[in-house]
Amino acid sequence: MKFVFLDYNLKYLAKSTMPNWLLYYVRGMRSLISSWTYWSAYVFKNGRANPPLAIAIEVTYRCNLTCAMCPQAIDLKNPESILRAQMKENDELKTEEIIRVINEAGKLGVKRVTVTGGEAFIRRDIMDILTAIKKNHMVCYVISNGGVMKEDQAREVVKMGIDKITFSLDGPEEIHNMIRQNKNQFHNLLNAVRMIQSEKKAQNKNVPDLTLSTTLSALNAHRVSELVEIAAKEKANINFGFLFYTTKEMEERTNKMFPPTGGKIEDQDIPMQIRSVDVNVLSKEIEKAKNMAERLGIKINIQPYITAPEDLYNRFHNDRHAYVHHCFYPWYAMRLNPYGDVYPCQMNIKMGNVRERPLAELWNNDIYVKFRQELRRVGIWPKCAKCCVLKDKLWDKLPNMRWWWDKK
Ligand code: SF4
Ligand code: SF4
Repeated sequence: MKFVFLDYNLKYLAKSTMPNWLLYYVRGMRSLISSWTYWSAYVFKNGRANPPLAIAIEVTYRCNLTCAMCPQAIDLKNPESILRAQMKENDELKTEEIIRVINEAGKLGVKRVTVTGGEAFIRRDIMDILTAIKKNHMVCYVISNGGVMKEDQAREVVKMGIDKITFSLDGPEEIHNMIRQNKNQFHNLLNAVRMIQSEKKAQNKNVPDLTLSTTLSALNAHRVSELVEIAAKEKANINFGFLFYTTKEMEERTNKMFPPTGGKIEDQDIPMQIRSVDVNVLSKEIEKAKNMAERLGIKINIQPYITAPEDLYNRFHNDRHAYVHHCFYPWYAMRLNPYGDVYPCQMNIKMGNVRERPLAELWNNDIYVKFRQELRRVGIWPKCAKCCVLKDKLWDKLPNMRWWWDKK
């Protein structure tokens, strides 16, 4: 006889039964505990880092969509862009190369792999890639627009125990389709969500944890609360993040401080009509969304937790304002582009290529060490101000202890 509860992932079972306030508290505690891994290296290792906890693999830059706010899509519209030239070369890592990197990551001690794109499900070998991650017993997150996932892929995703799948949702139907520049995308997205949910039910599983994720911008700020209803109807969690943008001035100042070498090329100078959010409207919508999530019993995550009009004003209209002023991301995570280049984050710096060097060597090579030393010195660079990893106020408290140590 089969014991039904054995198919359930306890971590996600606990998460799904917690009220939102407790979930925020647990997340805070978890962040405090894991901070030791990167903070200790930040303080004591002069630019070297402990083994990475997480890696994000961009398996392709190809995508079925050209979304209005996507830096990648904007860049691809530019005939002169290097990203376009790269894509023409069709030089993506082959299946066996990605699997080798995943095995290296497993040996290095990486705990979590996020698979993203472009659109990850465009790759024909996506299931081999996901299987390799689970074979290495690493937590696996997948980010997708839901536009091309097929039924048999949904079945496999559930069967192999992918931990979390995040689908992008930008607004109610007409807004989502307008932003995604595709009249069927909302329908396709819901189809993907329902395939995963029905497979979870059929296979008696509570993972993948299914989240709909919205990038807040001027295009959807007035309809945010409606997204909670959509998520509740689909029995999904909802995540709100803020648009990441830079300006030419922020880019230029950053480039003078740490010149780019080409790890991730994209135009993040997002057009004003997408950035010019009415903060009073957005603040009311967020409040409404929180109340609605409580009432409908779904998980809501706002990252960073900015809700008041004056704070939202700083986020969208004060280019130099940052929520947090110290960054630890390159001490615990690395990113890999589809051509094998390792890069640290939204900073366009190439640390080397996995076709030439193993991950373990790249992680603490001279460029990575210099990059971290400089980042530690400056706190954050000008173009970092709106970076989505700056979401935890804890990061501004940890360096105080660093100064205390430096003085000793
Ligand atoms: S789906 Fe994602 S990668 Fe594709 S164009 Fe839209 S935002 Fe960009
Ligand atoms: S804040 Fe800056 S250094 Fe840190 S991850 Fe973001 S872009 Fe990179």
